Amino acid sequence: MNQLPFSTLPLHPDLLHNLVSIGYESMTPIQAESLPHMLAGKDLIAQGKTGSGKTAAFGLGLLSRLDAGRSQVQALVLCPTRELADQVANELRKLARRLANIKVLTLCGGMPLRAQIASLEHGAHIIVGTPGRIEDHLGRGTLKLDRLSVLVLDEADRMLEMGFQSALDVIIAQTPRARQTLLFSATFPAQIQSIAGRIMRDPVQVRVESTH
Ligand code: ADP
Ligand code: MG
Repeated sequence: MNQLPFSTLPLHPDLLHNLVSIGYESMTPIQAESLPHMLAGKDLIAQGKTGSGKTAAFGLGLLSRLDAGRSQVQALVLCPTRELADQVANELRKLARRLANIKVLTLCGGMPLRAQIASLEHGAHIIVGTPGRIEDHLGRGTLKLDRLSVLVLDEADRMLEMGFQSALDVIIAQTPRARQTLLFSATFPAQIQSIAGRIMRDPVQVRVESTH
């Protein structure tokens, strides 16, 4: 089994120290398979079961590309539900703890818009949210994605099942073409293949069965 330590990757020393302090000693299989490609800037499609460590996989990938000195939205993670978005945001904050001033903001439906708009005015590096509310902010002009460098679709199969296809299309159309796109999904139905073909550039595909 794969038991590679994170230190075999070209990660920032502060990220490596933090992984030790939060008790992540070695990479899970999906992290070991996907991180080298993400760190090389490749688009990636990753399929793995629940609990396989997908959040830290894309989290370390996107944190490695951020410029903390630039107060602009540089990464967007789209999730199917508010609960999942909160979990992802918490994991990203935990991973970023030792990095200087990385701001992670969640934007989900069912939460007051005014507070979200006020938070956006203060600036954020990473947005985690549900497609409907992100589309809403884009329509109002309260969120801009023109400086985005990484787009993550987490649980892409569930987002499509929930009817978010058109919101995803609107959102993706407002991101730069030169972005890195990372797509995570438990299953890989034809609809995902089709969206991947439209929005990704020469993606690497990884598939991991086991969780540990
Ligand atoms: P998934 O999105 O694939 O369902 P998560 O990203 O939610 O899985 O991770 C599942 C659990 O595994 C979380 O509690 C997370 O903190 C933990 N975890 C992730 N990566 C590691 C690692 N390398 N070492 C130890 N625990 C990890
Ligand atoms: Mg997950």
